Amino acid sequence: MCIRWKFLNRFIAYAHREPSQLELDKSVSSGKVIVAAFDMDDTLITSASSLRFNHSAFDWKFLPNVRATISDHIAELKKGDQPVVTVVFSNQGGVIPDFDSKSFLKLRGKVEGMLKALPCIDMFFAAAITKDPEQKKEFRKPGPGMFILLEEIIKTYGLDIDFEQSFFVGDAAGRYFDHSDDDLKFAQAAHLPFITTEEFFSLDKVPTFDTRKQYKKFRHIAK
Ligand SMILES: [Mg+2]
Repeated sequence: MCIRWKFLNRFIAYAHREPSQLELDKSVSSGKVIVAAFDMDDTLITSASSLRFNHSAFDWKFLPNVRATISDHIAELKKGDQPVVTVVFSNQGGVIPDFDSKSFLKLRGKVEGMLKALPCIDMFFAAAITKDPEQKKEFRKPGPGMFILLEEIIKTYGLDIDFEQSFFVGDAAGRYFDHSDDDLKFAQAAHLPFITTEEFFSLDKVPTFDTRKQYKKFRHIAK
């Protein structure tokens, strides 16, 4: 199985396995697709050197519990009779969308390392640099553009998304210790249930909470 890359709309870096999981699942099921979606930085991986911005394609490591939890969770979902696609959505505002740029090659190396170590991840989308403010608003999280591109790809297989069973896991949830609420707002814009990184991976380093009601409470405390 190999990994193919292309740029969608000239600045969304998109990687998928070939043959795609959707193609493989299509023959065994006609149900709606469950999308298991994840943010990347500080949700699945972090820099190995503890630098804020990692300096090479190898400067990364998985966060605690990530590999086992995702593998088990996806294996459990796949026991059902619906197709399951596991996807990563990432904002990469420092990446120049060109196959030869240093920043893209660094991202590519990192993502391919991650996909090799986690065979259950099928697809990766990253919003790279764009000068167009409209595109930026639509395609960088919290804009739902990357999810809409996924939905279009799923439709090319004649399949629809199961919005009840699908979910998005991220760390930017607007809590007082978060840098933003981009992941929470992205999930809301895409109409996906949202789960924090800490909840999904059972981490206890920060208080856990359940999405919208608690989110308001945290925002209130933060003010
Ligand atoms: Mg993050």
